[in-house]
Amino acid sequence: MTESREPIAVIGTGYVGLVTAAGFAELGNEVWCVDIDAAKIEGLKRGEIPIYEPGLAESIAASAGRMHFTTELSEALEHARLLFVAVGTPPTYSGDADLSAVYSVVDAMPSGDQGHALVMKSTVPVGTGAAIRRRLEKTGKGNFSYVSCPEFLKEGSALEDFRKPDRVVVGDAGDAAGQAVCDLYAPLGAPLLRTDIASAEMIKLASNAFLATKISFINEIANVCEETGADVLEVAKGMGMDERIGRHFLKPGIGYGGSCFPKDVSALKQLAGNSGYHFQLLTAVIEVNELQKRRVIAKLQKHLGSLVGKTVTLLGLAFKAHTDDMREASSLVLSARLQGEGASVRAYDPIAADDARLLMPGVEFADSAVAAVKGADAVVLVTEWPEFSALDWNEMAAAMSGRVVIDGRNYVDAVAVRAAGFEYEGIGR
Ligand code: NAD
Repeated sequence: MTESREPIAVIGTGYVGLVTAAGFAELGNEVWCVDIDAAKIEGLKRGEIPIYEPGLAESIAASAGRMHFTTELSEALEHARLLFVAVGTPPTYSGDADLSAVYSVVDAMPSGDQGHALVMKSTVPVGTGAAIRRRLEKTGKGNFSYVSCPEFLKEGSALEDFRKPDRVVVGDAGDAAGQAVCDLYAPLGAPLLRTDIASAEMIKLASNAFLATKISFINEIANVCEETGADVLEVAKGMGMDERIGRHFLKPGIGYGGSCFPKDVSALKQLAGNSGYHFQLLTAVIEVNELQKRRVIAKLQKHLGSLVGKTVTLLGLAFKAHTDDMREASSLVLSARLQGEGASVRAYDPIAADDARLLMPGVEFADSAVAAVKGADAVVLVTEWPEFSALDWNEMAAAMSGRVVIDGRNYVDAVAVRAAGFEYEGIGR
C-alpha cells in the first residue's frame, strides 16, 4: 500500500495539522510537516509531541519513518504535490477571522509552479478560496490548484475522528486536485461530499454554528428548568429520542469554549454582516453562551452570600476533557469574575495546568483535587475529567471549610456529594 500512496505535505503542525499528518501516515502516505515554529519542529524531530491528544504520540511514533518535520517549505514542495494548509485562523478584535497566517502560506508559494495544490484545512470565511485563487493568478502562481477540505475533528478524540469521519467534504473546481484529495481519503470509507469551494467553506461554518446553537438552546432550557422544577437531563433525554433532534450536543453546562465554536460562530456572524445580512440567531447564541459562564457566580452567591474573602476552587480548567487546550475556556472567564467579586481562586487540572498558569493571573494552582480544595468554601466543577467522577467526597469535605459544590457539567454523583454533607447544585436540575 505504501508505494501507491502519494506523498503529501501539511503546513502548520497544531491540533489539526499534526492529527492530519499522523492520520495519513497511518494510511501509508509519506508526510512532510512544515511549521514556522522552529522549536516545535526541533521537538517533533526528537519525538516530543507539543499537544495533548489521546493516541497521537503513539501514532506518530509508529509512523516515525513516514513523517518528516521541517521549517523549510521548499523541502515539502519538492516531495509533495498536495499541500494541506492547517495554520491558525484566530478571531480579530472585530470577530472576523484573521487570515494572515493563511496568506503568508499562499504568498510563500513559488511562482511558475507546476502541479501543486493548496488544500485548505484551516477554517476560513466563505469566499476565501475565491480570493486566494485571484491572489495566486495575480502573482504568477495561476498553476496552483485550490481545494477546500474543511476539518471536523473534535479535540480529545481527534485521531479517532480522522480515522472514522462522519463525512469528508471536498470543495473544488472539478479538477484533478479535487479528485486526488478524494482518492487520498478513499481508504477511510467515509461518506464523501464533493462540492464547490464556497459551499464547502460554508458547510464548516454552518456546522459549527448549528452545534453551538444546540448548546445555547439546551442551556436556556436548563435555565428555565431551574425556574420551573423540571430536570434538564430528563428533558434532554426525551428530546434526543426524537431522531429529528438527535441526542448529541444536548448537554447543558457553563458554556461552550475552545478554539472553534466561539471563533467560527463569530466569524459566520461577521461574514453575514459584511455581506449585509444581520444573523440575529447567532447574536443570541453568543450572548446566551457568555451569560451562561457567568451564571455560576450567581449560584455561588446564592449559597455563600458575598464572595469577598471567600475561597473558590475550580476543578478542571481545559475547555473540555481530554485536551490541554485552554483557548476560550469557561475557566478563564470564571477565574477573572470570581477575583473581580473579591474571592480567592484555587485550581487543579490534570493536563492543562501548565498552559493555564500563564493565562490565569492570581490563581493558586495545586497538584491534586484534594490539595486544591484545602480550606475552600466552594468547589466549581468546570471540566469533566474522568478522575473527578471517582472523587471521594468525604475526603473532599474533610479538606474544605465550606460545603458548596457547583457542578458545571452535571458530571459528579449528586447523591454521593449530598451524602457527604454538601449543598450540591448542577445546571438545570
Ligand atoms: P494551532 O494554533 O494549534 O496550530 C497552527 C500551527 O500553524 C502552529 O503550529 C503555527 O506555528 C503554525 N503556523 C502558523 N503560521 C504558519 C506558516 N506561515 N507556515 C507554517 N506554519 C504556520 O491551530 P489548530 O487548532 O490546529 O487550527 C488550525 C485551523 O484548523 C484553524 O483554522 C482552526 O479553526 C481549524 N480547525 C481546528 C480544529 C480544532 O479542534 N483545533 C478543528 C477543526 C478545524
